[in-house]
Amino acid sequence: LDLRSEDLQTISELGAGNGGTVSRVMHLPTKSIMARKVIHIDAQPAVRKQILRELQIMHDCNHPNIVSFYGAFLHESEISYCMEIMDVGSLDGICAKNGAFPMDVIGLITVSVLKGLNYLYTNHKIVHRDLKPSNILINSAGLVKICDFGVSGQLVNSIANTFVGTSNYMSPERIRGWNYGVQSDVWSLGITLMELALGRFPLDAECRSLTVLELLQHIVNEPLPTLPRRDFPEDFCNFVDIW
Ligand code: ADP
Ligand code: MG
Repeated sequence: LDLRSEDLQTISELGAGNGGTVSRVMHLPTKSIMARKVIHIDAQPAVRKQILRELQIMHDCNHPNIVSFYGAFLHESEISYCMEIMDVGSLDGICAKNGAFPMDVIGLITVSVLKGLNYLYTNHKIVHRDLKPSNILINSAGLVKICDFGVSGQLVNSIANTFVGTSNYMSPERIRGWNYGVQSDVWSLGITLMELALGRFPLDAECRSLTVLELLQHIVNEPLPTLPRRDFPEDFCNFVDIW
């Protein structure tokens, strides 16, 4: 499928975040609905072309728990990539609307995300690098899939160099600039699962008024967050505690 900006008609906005905006679009030649992410990056044309080349790896990432990739292209100095639309949306939105998730749903989410991460790492040596509720999506078939993983080292670098490049889900070693590996995705998954269980960001209680920098310092210096054991099954508390 050769995607071109001219062939895509925007239907609605789905959201905006880390350096990009996502909209629901129709691909006119095939009448198919897709999600299109547009990324604004101030970079040399050569860097943008490299990002585009690196994004092509996503064509080879085929797994039931990975959001399908339809293609990427450059348009007026912006990078776009199109992917499968996940019609129920992302976990942050569902959590904001419905509050905490029931344990059985958290179980399904955990298994789905781990299968997706395991596929990416064992088959493509890809570490996600940006796992968080907004990058975990659900569709009305009940499937849970992950998106926005770090296929393009150049894209990861370009976003890291901007103001929006930090995330509340970053592990202490990532914040310190140490080696980044699968363990850092495990941290992000733990924080994400705690948030889904609590219905709010797990560090929020003490951190509500912290600046980005203070929150990052808190993650690096303070003890690990844990769940109140009286409110949740013991197995789940142990699962998010292991690190
Ligand atoms: P972030 O992930 O940091 O919130 P993004 O630009 O990646 O920022 O995504 C913005 C929003 O678009 C997400 O929060 C999510 O709700 C929505 N979104 C992203 N990809 C899809 C998709 N494939 N299908 C449906 N919604 C999506
Ligand atoms: Mg995202």
